[in-house]
Amino acid sequence: MEVDKPERLIVDGKRLDGRKLDEPRSVKMVAGPLKRADGSAFVEWGKNKALASIYGPGETHPRHLQESDRAILQVRYNMASFSVEDRKRPGPDRRSAEISKVTKEALEPAVFLAEYPRSSIEINIEILQADAGTRCTGINAASLALADAGIPMRDLVVALAFGKIDGEVCLDLNKDEDNYGEADVPVAVMPRKKLISLLQMDGDLSRDEFNKGLDMVMDSVDRIHQIQRDALMEKYKRD
Ligand code: ADP
Repeated sequence: MEVDKPERLIVDGKRLDGRKLDEPRSVKMVAGPLKRADGSAFVEWGKNKALASIYGPGETHPRHLQESDRAILQVRYNMASFSVEDRKRPGPDRRSAEISKVTKEALEPAVFLAEYPRSSIEINIEILQADAGTRCTGINAASLALADAGIPMRDLVVALAFGKIDGEVCLDLNKDEDNYGEADVPVAVMPRKKLISLLQMDGDLSRDEFNKGLDMVMDSVDRIHQIQRDALMEKYKRD
């Protein structure tokens, strides 16, 4: 149920869900939950739940999308009708098209696409439960699923957002914070060299606030990266 705007979103330096300003939500990741996909991952990020699956590399359909010197990523982000409070109308819409596009662009620099000329790698992201930050949850899941598929990569991709609530820069806004906050900035990073492959900004921030938020993201990237690597290790131990 959507709550009315609380008087304050930060009380005594803590957010309404008990987190500190620079604290991401709790994160759990499983690599390879699907047996028939070439690669897969399930990510729980706070109340967000995303399942990513990889099919390929394989033939490109439709053919005109084929690139002679590299593989293409075909990304489909989809929010299940039961993933949000009121039923979401099933099927693609402008928002899912936008998120599919930015997800593709966030992942492309991490994949050695030239290894598979003329091929396509299908990436499906299903959001099973949504609580703000699903594009980031989906990117984390997709990157883990690509690694699980054994596709050669320069690096994994870690995504998380910062934003502003009650005039304070905070990491990783949940739904209530996103609804009533002043800014939201999803960021994707390739952790080894700290290269940014996605940065979107909704709302207004000063230069100092922006830099502070980006520092918060960068300070958490290695921890999320470690959770991805642990998930891959678990999978290899399991199989
Ligand atoms: P992100 O999920 O990446 O933060 P948005 O900022 O577009 O992307 O969406 C924020 C949140 O709003 C989503 O995570 C979801 O909880 C909710 N939301 C998005 N689209 C819908 C929709 N069609 N119906 C209900 N809730 C939605």
